[in-house]
Amino acid sequence: MKRFILPLLLSAFLLQTAAAQNIKFVEYDLPNGLKVLLHEDHSTPIVAVSVMYHVGSKNEKPKRSGFAHFFEHLLFEGSENIKRGEFDDYINNAGGMNNANTWYDRTYYYEVLPSNQLALGLWLESERMLHAKVENAGIETQRQVVKEERRQRVDNQPYGRLLEETLKRVFTTHPYKSSVIGSMEDLDAAVEMDYKQFYQDFYRPDNAILLMQVERLLQESGIAGARAFEDKKTDRPLFQRHSARQKRDPA
Ligand SMILES: [Zn+2]
Repeated sequence: MKRFILPLLLSAFLLQTAAAQNIKFVEYDLPNGLKVLLHEDHSTPIVAVSVMYHVGSKNEKPKRSGFAHFFEHLLFEGSENIKRGEFDDYINNAGGMNNANTWYDRTYYYEVLPSNQLALGLWLESERMLHAKVENAGIETQRQVVKEERRQRVDNQPYGRLLEETLKRVFTTHPYKSSVIGSMEDLDAAVEMDYKQFYQDFYRPDNAILLMQVERLLQESGIAGARAFEDKKTDRPLFQRHSARQKRDPA
């Protein structure tokens, strides 16, 4: 009898996992290249707005490690229409929460808000994508913040550099050889122009996916809201994504 228990448990687990991952969504592309995924969930009166950028530490140039993670911080610094330090205030005042994270291949920003605040979430993310202020005041503030984060999470943690030292030895040319948080040396060396260029290259509609989870049947408003992202000029070449695409499909 025992020999049937394990397969039975395994099947139940797999069935449950398969059911849990059956998320229905609508997918469409805006003319500017922004991909939109829209999911309806009626279980709670909240909306989630998030943007995933196809940029991570793999896109960093030599001697400029830590850029993608740095931008995770920098893009909370304000924009043409949001004053420095006020990004989070919009979320807090609306009763929401937000955060972001960075990895080797992607950077992810999100807001969770009451369901009547979808437009606010879209506006905040469109400001981040289209009008972020990439300038010295914010850069110098975040440079110190990121360096302190490195001290706390990596340099002053027992075995904190294990992953960094391992990947450095595993990969010699592959971009995964650099740590996501970057080296102190590179964090100190980067200047405003480097950051402006990185923003122009990667934080743009044709290098991002907008994901929305809405409570009610808001497909129309989701489509309308996503148009907030449409005014970005996309005539600049996007070298990383285009070269990757060419490699996959030489025809
Ligand atoms: Zn951080």
